[in-house]
Amino acid sequence: MKTKQNQGLFDCSRRDFVKVAGLGAAAMAIPGLIRNASAAPASGISQEVITTDVLIVGGGIAATFAAIKAKKNGVDVTIVDKGTVGRSGLSPFFGSFRMFKESSSITREQYIEAVSKAGNYLNRRDYLEMYMDDSADIAEEFLSWGVGEQLRGGHGSTYRGQIIKNDIRLIERTMITELFKKNGKIAGAIGFPMEEDRAVIIKAKAVVLCSGSGALKTPGFPCNNITHDGDAMSYRIGAEITGKEFCDFHWTHWEDPGDMYGNWERHSFNAISPGVHTLSSGRRPQARSMALQAHNGNIPFFMRGRSGGSGERPSGTPTGGDTGERPDAAGGVRRAPAGVRSLDLPIVWGSTAGMSSHKCEGIFPKGNKCSSSIPGLFAAGDALFTGGATYSSGGSSASGSAVQGARAGRYAAEYVKENKQQNISDSELAQSKERIFAPRTSEKGFSPIWVTQVLQGIMVPYYVINIKKQIRLEAALSNVEFLREQFAPNLLANDTHQLRLAHETRNMLLNSEMKLRAGLMRTETRGDHYREDYPDTDDKNWLAWIIITKDGDNMKLTRRAIPGAWKPQR
Ligand SMILES: Cc1cc2nc3c(=O)[nH]c(=O)nc-3n(C[C@H](O)[C@H](O)[C@H](O)COP(=O)(O)OP(=O)(O)OC[C@H]3O[C@@H](n4cnc5c(N)ncnc54)[C@H](O)[C@@H]3O)c2cc1C
Repeated sequence: MKTKQNQGLFDCSRRDFVKVAGLGAAAMAIPGLIRNASAAPASGISQEVITTDVLIVGGGIAATFAAIKAKKNGVDVTIVDKGTVGRSGLSPFFGSFRMFKESSSITREQYIEAVSKAGNYLNRRDYLEMYMDDSADIAEEFLSWGVGEQLRGGHGSTYRGQIIKNDIRLIERTMITELFKKNGKIAGAIGFPMEEDRAVIIKAKAVVLCSGSGALKTPGFPCNNITHDGDAMSYRIGAEITGKEFCDFHWTHWEDPGDMYGNWERHSFNAISPGVHTLSSGRRPQARSMALQAHNGNIPFFMRGRSGGSGERPSGTPTGGDTGERPDAAGGVRRAPAGVRSLDLPIVWGSTAGMSSHKCEGIFPKGNKCSSSIPGLFAAGDALFTGGATYSSGGSSASGSAVQGARAGRYAAEYVKENKQQNISDSELAQSKERIFAPRTSEKGFSPIWVTQVLQGIMVPYYVINIKKQIRLEAALSNVEFLREQFAPNLLANDTHQLRLAHETRNMLLNSEMKLRAGLMRTETRGDHYREDYPDTDDKNWLAWIIITKDGDNMKLTRRAIPGAWKPQR
């Protein structure tokens, strides 16, 4: 791992190290060099080999449905979750679960047009059709798990219960870090558990990535354990990634920004209410207007949002969360319940910085069977791009993940019945193990926590990730490239928890680079991508996705036009 170029960086005396460690807050400006007292060669690290038909990576609603459906289709299934099922990813936190049912108030055609318009025509219509076909049945199945009664206490525990009930092999607190590809097809994956230095090798005929999306470990949304690992792993073996320029605009509170329950009461303690979702967003989501107002100096923003634009309290409706008093079913007024923040308090940006809007980023589906460009590699939920340029159908993110998970599980089972296990040689396994444990086996290196903090400083400001301009994107990109070259190969982990942080940091760096490059390439404004220097939507050139692939050591971005039949009818 140590190149000639970076050997000098490691040349740090013990006294220098103590000085750096003792600098406290000022250390932000100085490389977080650390030493590893327990460094040992990777060859001495034990390994466990598991063989299965279908490996599901993740433990949210997509993974749970994928595993159940694959198992019901007669194949052996293993789920691996980085955290504990029901407590990790975004799934434990959603509050509305929608489905489509054709009715006199909305026809199938009207729904397709409304969602496509809201998604700025970049949504995958084939997956919208899948959602419309399956969501009612999936909602019924979900409710049959008893989630209705569990909502106020959180429905996460339901997933675990279903996995165990269906006798599915479950491995928790284990991070998958690399996928194996052999003869052009998927062959399995490798990772490690949080508690000890051990490689977990899973030989599988098919892998379903239900690893969710990711962010930059910002406060606000509880998204700290997801870091775009699925995108990163599949990009590294050649899969197509897309949607990185569409940046989520969720907010948080300026006091205790991590107080998710106080700030997001509506999402946490709502009831599941299957029903047709009514669409209101147009081609330019209101969400963006708040960042623009901040940019123009109209601050602060209040939880109540719009109040007539008096200058003292500028207009703008926060995305999600409590937006003020609302009429209740009995004809009265509903206020935020006790323990929930006053709606008159100010809010701040960046609760999900580094994330795209739900389902607007991830693996680009090849065809309509949740498959990627690599045979045997499937994806579902937030790990799969299907949404478009903005969150085009509120409440369909959770149910859409469930629908896609169920389909992906079924398709993966069908695939394994026709494809044999690809062989991974011992030397390939040894090399992979060497790469994964490099931060544990090095003696000196950089703290992943420090690198993440520096990355947050570069990426999180609203004027980088939300309100974009060429010069600022280029400046951020040059900084991210520097972090990638200088620090990413030399991260150090004193224990397996830090090993996880090291891999997460690498993945966040990769995701940031994708976001900046895609943001630069799309020279227009569309959905949740706003370019200050290109404020207009350019349908002539940009009814297209940006496809990101690995080209040797370079990141390649290609424009791919949407099918003619999906273009807006003018
Ligand atoms: C506060 C909040 C409110 C929300 N409100 C709504 C709502 O009202 N309606 C709605 O439709 N949607 C809502 N959403 C979004 C919704 O929760 C998600 O779209 C959905 O849960 C995604 O499900 P998923 O299974 O695809 O991913 P996730 O639930 O994010 O699961 C990803 C899983 O992958 C695991 N994982 C990640 N990387 C690895 C790795 N390397 N190795 C092993 N495992 C890994 C994680 O531990 C996690 O278990 C909300 C989200 C939040 C946070």
